[in-house]
Amino acid sequence: MTAAPAAAGKSAALERYEAVIGIEIHCQLKTVSKMFCGCSTEIDGAAPNSHCCPVCLGLPGVLPTINRTAVEWVLATGFAIEATVAPTTRWDRKNYFYPDLPKGYQISQYQLPLAANGRLTFDTSEGPFTVRVRRAHLEEDTGRLIHDELGGRRVSLIDFNRSGMPLMEIVTEPDIRTAEQARRYAEELRLLMRTIGASDAEMENGQMRVEANVSIRPRGQESFGTRVEVKNMNSMRAVERAIAYEIERQAVAVDAGETIHMETRGWDEARQSTYHMRPKEEENDYRYFPEPDLPPLLTSPEWLAGIKARLPELPSVRRVRYREAFGLSAYDADVLVNDAAAAALFEGALAAGAGVPAKLLANWVTGEYMRLAKGGEGSGGGAAGRVDAAELAALVKLVAGGAISGTNAKEVFGEHFASGAGVASIVKARGFRQISDAGALGAAIDQVLAANPAAVADYRAGKAAAVGFLVGQVMKATRGQANAGMVQTALRERLDKAE
Ligand SMILES: [Zn+2]
Repeated sequence: MTAAPAAAGKSAALERYEAVIGIEIHCQLKTVSKMFCGCSTEIDGAAPNSHCCPVCLGLPGVLPTINRTAVEWVLATGFAIEATVAPTTRWDRKNYFYPDLPKGYQISQYQLPLAANGRLTFDTSEGPFTVRVRRAHLEEDTGRLIHDELGGRRVSLIDFNRSGMPLMEIVTEPDIRTAEQARRYAEELRLLMRTIGASDAEMENGQMRVEANVSIRPRGQESFGTRVEVKNMNSMRAVERAIAYEIERQAVAVDAGETIHMETRGWDEARQSTYHMRPKEEENDYRYFPEPDLPPLLTSPEWLAGIKARLPELPSVRRVRYREAFGLSAYDADVLVNDAAAAALFEGALAAGAGVPAKLLANWVTGEYMRLAKGGEGSGGGAAGRVDAAELAALVKLVAGGAISGTNAKEVFGEHFASGAGVASIVKARGFRQISDAGALGAAIDQVLAANPAAVADYRAGKAAAVGFLVGQVMKATRGQANAGMVQTALRERLDKAE
């Protein structure tokens, strides 16, 4: 239908058009049982259709019951994004037929979402950016269709294990203007979900599904263009690329005099392009009406207050605290806040080691720790258990006090990371620590002075550079394990005093 975006036309088209983007994100909520029945949510790797009951299969005559924890996660999200949390809410039926939806409708929330009018602020390469969140509501997931081949015939199989899993849908206002802002919004929301514990939000396995409504309009125009829904973006990188591609595609199409149609397009990772999936339904096609099997849900002030009080420190607040209380750079603060294991290690070491310098500690966590953690199995950086916060604090104190060289400290850390052995015992076993002993240092210096009378004479004759040679000799005698600064000071003291 439309020509592929031509690289040549790209920048010119984007100068004339502005993109308008709204994001819808579905997150699978962390609960023990499904949204409206008692079936387990542990469906990963389970045999197809092994986690179903009459309720989540949509059999006639059954009644749903509301999962309290799922409701609490949406309310917690509402507080975390500064949304208005509804004192009363209700459930609606969203009617449509699809083989993976046995009831013929999905129980969702239409008129009265649990949370509305929130906001999320995050950093972009062009500075901080705020996206208004229109609503966050609760609904149930559908089953899953598996298209396969059986005995030479193409078949579609249905697995209802996912049917009735609790889903939170979070919808933004059309505030986003660039593909990067869209990616950053999704990343910040994912971090928020993980921080408050509402969802693991892994995109790869569908726990977090990002859809974008993308339209363009000539710069300066108020009214919106026709929007196209883009889905099947399975990574943050795919979110940014798919939206960038779609903006370009629409600009090129409009320039060529084509009409943009309301449609749903999928992201093809292999081809790095979007493709037509189906025409997009209008909201009124769903014939929403109140769910007759569920009463309205009342949220008491006490219940809400408890949920709010249990919220952990939010990423935005933590970033500011790291910058202001510990003097970390914006970059370091961001790296720590984005990695729960790293942040826990940083905080743990701060708590365990009184007086440990926070900035140096942060360097160790974002540097050596994350390097080793990423190289380890699982690669997600989840090896926090292998680094003891108190041991890291002890090591950083040794470095800060000059008792151990940076190179030796990295060796100690590597061994602790690998074996879990204590820092003090590693340092002792390797003999790294003897150098901080003033007596041992003094003995080494005495030996070097006695063995190098010419250099001593040079220094006393006014050749200050001779100290460098003598320091080098002490370092050599101690196999590189002496603190060069301490040696220098001690050497000068002896040379100047002993005349
Ligand atoms: Zn069930």
